[in-house]
Amino acid sequence: MSAGKFQSFHPPQRTLMGPGPSDVNPRVLEALSRPTIGHLDPMFIKMMDELKEMLRYAFQTRNEVTIPISAPGSAGMETAFVNLVEPGDKVIVCCNGVFGKRMVENVQRCGGEAIIVEDPWGRAVDPAKVEAALKANPQAKILAFVHAETSTGALTDAATLAALAHQYDCLTIVDTVTSLAGVPLKVDEWQLDAVYSGTQKCLSCIPGLSPVTFNERAMTKIKNRKTKVQSWFMDMNLMLGYWDGGKRAYHHTAPINPLYGLHEALVILSEEGLENSWARHRTQHLALKAGLDELGLELVVPEPERLPQLNAIRIPAGVDDAPVRKKLLDVYNLEIGAGLGESAGKLWRIGLMGYSANSRNVLYCLSALKTVL
Ligand SMILES: *Cc1c(COP(=O)(O)O)cnc(C)c1O
Repeated sequence: MSAGKFQSFHPPQRTLMGPGPSDVNPRVLEALSRPTIGHLDPMFIKMMDELKEMLRYAFQTRNEVTIPISAPGSAGMETAFVNLVEPGDKVIVCCNGVFGKRMVENVQRCGGEAIIVEDPWGRAVDPAKVEAALKANPQAKILAFVHAETSTGALTDAATLAALAHQYDCLTIVDTVTSLAGVPLKVDEWQLDAVYSGTQKCLSCIPGLSPVTFNERAMTKIKNRKTKVQSWFMDMNLMLGYWDGGKRAYHHTAPINPLYGLHEALVILSEEGLENSWARHRTQHLALKAGLDELGLELVVPEPERLPQLNAIRIPAGVDDAPVRKKLLDVYNLEIGAGLGESAGKLWRIGLMGYSANSRNVLYCLSALKTVL
């Protein structure tokens, strides 16, 4: 390799309106570039404590165990499953899109038995089917479902499913990667037990971190496991020695600067207020919907089950998926999402997440789509 072959990487300035990452708030980008300090520095530990407190606000919980896992949303998912599922455990998993399928995979890799409750892609999870599965499987220990299914844009009624689970003596594992800060999510009021999320969707932080919150019921199950958690890194018992209590023991080196970014994203959320953030996502969704109507573009998910922050639209007959997205990206620097899994080539996913959920983006996306189509 010759000297000087490589130069610094300067990415283009895109507008991110896909399923994540969303546009990162410039305040977060600035926070990332602040000086790196030691991960056991008293100043850093003080910041970790603030992070936990602000995450509790975002999740609407008083759970002591509320921390960001040092890895993306998928690792938050894995953390929930490896800690709560023991070999032989029966887990009811709701599947209405790509992320439900990944939950099944997680259960099986933990040596558990997944009982699958299927719903059509583009629809919410049906509580009646879940209740039937709970009834038919009295040995089931856990109910797992995705609150906001990013592959289709469907919102599931988490409160109702959690109430059903507890009625049948099951704990809940809930994916809130896309719902956190975008739609109402009330961990304590709805009694969700093990909840994980991500930073790159409605928090508009960079990808690579996964806030999780576990209540007493979940922690009791973890502490009474018969077998060791098979993942050393994600074992909550070990992780908490680092994040919890007065004395912090080295577990791994926290991603210092990304955590500055998350801290800043949560400060921004606390300034705006959670309710206002939910309302803003909804307002921008309605504006987008009105514009899509004018263009004759149709949303996939029926009205009451629609996510404001992820709008799946049917690709019109006679229109080719990839060339449209390529043109949006090349000419307009605009990224929208393709269909995932079985909906590849059939739909586009327009994200209105976090900092991206603003009028300028909505108008820009609509006019770019209009021109390209
Ligand atoms: C994005 C997403 C994930 C995975 O998060 P990564 O940060 O990509 O690992 C998990 N579940 C849902 C519902 C998501 O939208």
